[in-house]
Parts: sequence; structure tokens; C-alpha cells
Amino acid sequence: MPIQSPDNPLIIARPEGLYCPAGDFYIDPWRPVARAIITHAHSDHARVGHGHYLATQAGEQVLRHRLGDIALQTLRYGEAVSHNGVRISLHPAGHVLGSAQVRIEVAGEVWVASGDYKVEPDPTCAAFEPVRCDTFITESTFGLPIYRWQHSDALFAEINQWWRANAAQGRVSVLFCYAFGKAQRILRGVDASIGPILTHGAVAPLNDAYRASGVALPATRRVAELAARGENKAAYAGALVLAPPSAAGSTWMRRFGDYSDAFASGWMLLRGARRRRGVERGFVMSDHADWPGLLWAIEQTGAQQVYVTHGQTGVLTRWLGEHGIAAHTFHTQYGDEDEGVGQQQDEATQAAAAPMDDAADSAHRAEQGPEEGAAP
Ligand SMILES: [Zn+2]
Ligand SMILES: [Zn+2]
Repeated sequence: MPIQSPDNPLIIARPEGLYCPAGDFYIDPWRPVARAIITHAHSDHARVGHGHYLATQAGEQVLRHRLGDIALQTLRYGEAVSHNGVRISLHPAGHVLGSAQVRIEVAGEVWVASGDYKVEPDPTCAAFEPVRCDTFITESTFGLPIYRWQHSDALFAEINQWWRANAAQGRVSVLFCYAFGKAQRILRGVDASIGPILTHGAVAPLNDAYRASGVALPATRRVAELAARGENKAAYAGALVLAPPSAAGSTWMRRFGDYSDAFASGWMLLRGARRRRGVERGFVMSDHADWPGLLWAIEQTGAQQVYVTHGQTGVLTRWLGEHGIAAHTFHTQYGDEDEGVGQQQDEATQAAAAPMDDAADSAHRAEQGPEEGAAP
């Protein structure tokens, strides 16, 4: 391994976004730039207005759906291109369809920018692939020891049980979830034999983009389609309805008559988050790595230097520093829009200040605080 030169980092933070000086390109920039590599199509990472885009072939359909007519060059996972002497390749991040870690190499030095990622299996996208590197750039959305996800088999058993019980009573099951990634993972994971599956207009086109990309999903119908036919409330009985968080409490909900509602997000681990959502059930489900997942991923890279971009940056950099890894923060404009809420991070940070074995209780107390901001 070459000696790293702190004066010559492969990636730096600029007002426009994360920048590679040697290659003269950006990764997930938040301001318009000439050349951008996009890790995935969530709106805090993929924005309109760049001159040239480089992204994965697997994510092309969803990226074009979101950004429209863009100058897009795609790479297969693992395929490399050279730009201004920088070797660039994209590797699965396991977050959503097409999501990638960006590996860049100059004169034998390797940096990996991972965007958003999760390490548990997800049948709607390629599995996270650990990539050896000198410097790893990581998120930390759920970077607190209290965040540990249960196995997805157990999660979907819970969701199926809730849906089945509602269907047996002729009730509609409305599940709020982020429209891109989360909704498709739920579709793929639920037992479609329980009843019909209906989708909000924000979810349906993403399902179509997934299907066009070769991801098999159970049959769905749009709520608007039934409404246009003048179907009465009985037509919805027993159905599972997937809708974005913004539909909660809206007039759109009135058509369902008797329904049970639930919200799927990593933040549902915090009781107060569910209470504020005003839903009956919270399913703890995230497309981000939990605390053990973050530590495992970082360890797998073998990186001696780590930059943390968003989420619990302070907690994770401190932990890494205590474990012999040079850790720093990049100030970015990435958020957790794909989890549907944001305020919980501050509350959870307060919890982190408490002794660890008491952290979960403190998180619950901290949630008594102010109302969260509007959903995206
Ligand atoms: Zn994301
Ligand atoms: Zn993100």
C-alpha cells in the first residue's frame, strides 16, 4: 500500500458536494456540476442539473424515472472506466435497486464512497459487496448501538400477520412506506395470497420501473384505477394498500372506510416516532445498515481511514477513533428522506449521551420533544 498523503486526498468536500480533484468529478453532488457519479436514485443523492451522469446499469430505469432526460453513462457492477487517470468502478451497496459504492483508484491508492447502504439481504437489489480500500466513506443514519434490525423473515411474518388479521375482519391494511425501495421490498416480502395489493399513485411508477429492470413483484393495482370505476368501499376490503407517508391523514384515506394503518421505517424502533405518526402499528424496517451492520461493513473494507457523511456522525467517528481508525466527518446535504422522517436523529443523539444499557429508554424519553418536520 502506498503511503497516504494527507495533502492529496482522493476525495474532498466542496460546496457543491464530494469532489475528486484528480478526476475532476463529483459524487452525489447537491449543486449542479459538469460531471457527477450517482450512487443511487434517492432524491438527496440524485439531483437534476448536472452535465454528465455516471451510474449503474441496474439503476438506469429508476434514475431516468426520477430525473427524466439526462446525459447518462452506465456501468455494470464491477466494470471499470478510466477518467483523467482515475480508475472508477461501481459495486453493490444493497440499499435499493441500482445502488452502488463508488471505488476510485489513483496510483494504487483506493477510496470507496458508499452512499447509503445496508448489509442484510434484499431480494429487490444486489447484495452489499465489501470492497477493500485505504479510505472508506460511510453513512451513519442509524449509527447508534440501540439500532439493531431483526431478520427480515421475522419482519415479514409480523407484517403478514397484521394484514391477515385485518383481512379476516374485512378491514383494509394501509401501510405507509417510502415509495422507492421500501415499497418494493415490502411487495416482494409479503404473502401475496392474503389478498389484493393496491398502490398509491406515488408508488405505482416505481413498481413499474423495478419490473422493467427485471425485479419480479406480485401483481398490484392502483387505487385510482378502482376509484375511477366508482368502486365502493367493499372493493377495498381485505386489501393491502401501499402509500407514501405524505398520504397519512389526507382526504385520500377516506375511501377505505374501516382500515388499520401502519408505518414501516427504521425510526419505528423509537416508540415516540410511532405515536407522533398516529398509526396503529410500526414495523421496524430500514434500507440502511444498523449499528452492527455499519461496524461490520467498515471492518470488511480494511480501511485505516474513514469519513462519515451523514446521520450519527459524531457517535460513529468517536467509536472508530477509540478503535484505532482515523475517522473524520464530511459535512454533506444527504439526509434520511428515504426513511420518511428526520427529527429522530436529534432525539437519538440525546439518547446516546446516556449510558449504553439505558440508551433505549432514554431514546423514548427524548422523543417527548417537539414535533418532527413535515414528511417529504
Ligand atoms: Zn438512499
Ligand atoms: Zn441518503
